[in-house]
Amino acid sequence: MIDFHELMTILSVPRPNGSVAEIMTENSLRDWLTRHSIPHRTQTFLLYPFFFECIGLWIILSRSLLAVAIWSRWGWVTLPIALLGLLGGTLDVALNMPLVTWPGARRRENILIEFEPNHPQQEIIFCAHYDSKTELLDHRQRMFFLKRLNFGFGLTALLGFWGLLQQWLANSFWGAVIFWIGVALTVPLLLLAWGFGLHLSLGRLLKPSQGAVDNGAACAILLGLAERLATSQIPLTDKKITLALFTGEEVNMQGSRAYVRSRTWSLPAAALNMEIMAQDGDFIYWQEDGNFFHLSPTNERLNQAVVAAVKQVTGCGAQPAGPVNSDGGSFLRAGIPSTTMGTLDTRLGVTGFHQPTDNLARVVLERLPQTVKVLETFLSQIHF
Ligand SMILES: [Zn+2]
Repeated sequence: MIDFHELMTILSVPRPNGSVAEIMTENSLRDWLTRHSIPHRTQTFLLYPFFFECIGLWIILSRSLLAVAIWSRWGWVTLPIALLGLLGGTLDVALNMPLVTWPGARRRENILIEFEPNHPQQEIIFCAHYDSKTELLDHRQRMFFLKRLNFGFGLTALLGFWGLLQQWLANSFWGAVIFWIGVALTVPLLLLAWGFGLHLSLGRLLKPSQGAVDNGAACAILLGLAERLATSQIPLTDKKITLALFTGEEVNMQGSRAYVRSRTWSLPAAALNMEIMAQDGDFIYWQEDGNFFHLSPTNERLNQAVVAAVKQVTGCGAQPAGPVNSDGGSFLRAGIPSTTMGTLDTRLGVTGFHQPTDNLARVVLERLPQTVKVLETFLSQIHF
């Protein structure tokens, strides 16, 4: 039996992308694997660690400049400012093009543990992320801004054209009216841009989240499963089993996207991702995965297999929830069936992450070996 408390000590320190702590966590996890004689390898990719800080600052700067252009009657100049403002961040998140997120790029590593029988017929991937993040607002509070993203995009585009209108009507009776309506429209734009921008960019200056629940516990569970597979306590049948510990999840799932992109798929494959594990409430699974630009349903067969395995081990069902924005989405986007499971906190539900409320005290240690059993049951029953 492995020492889950020791693992959680490694996995309950703030380890934001691009930090020394993130590298030290990777090294500690690899040391742990080596000490337990579990073969593993790494996959290197180019990480943009300051992804959301860059987008936050871009939103603040571009929208502030747009407001100044309206107040100062710069005319048509508002159009390119609005266009660049809209492209920066949107291309980065939706299309993975690092238009404004490139500063500070560096090589980073996912950890892969693979178990391959002689004649595998299918592949199952279990994954979790070992990076963490701290933000100004929690998941529920930031919904205020996410729900108004469309409005913000629309307002930016409208004010882009407003400068042309101002220029066109400058010498007419309507000139003053158009000017003051433009000024009035910059008020909600600035409130949204500064609110959301500060939320995205201030995290590293705040008291940090330990990332124990999001997503240390899930990594500990994967390592528990790895130990059982490596010591043949779980028999290998016709499935290749890959355990993936990703980094870069908190910066737009960069690690899992790079992994999915980097490899070929010779066998039918499916992925089970884990988020916010080992809390004191029910197991859950998310019915949808993705972001503002793209949301996919998770795989129904995998969901049913999760529900069945949870029921068999705990006697209780797993509750549907959603949507989530997780590494599971990277597989869905590549056409590989996936789902993501998690747990609820009886008091906080699915809130209180990316903040100091995510700490070791919130992890129920007994849930870690219990979840290893759930995965083992899932593995013995899933066929796709
Ligand atoms: Zn997470």
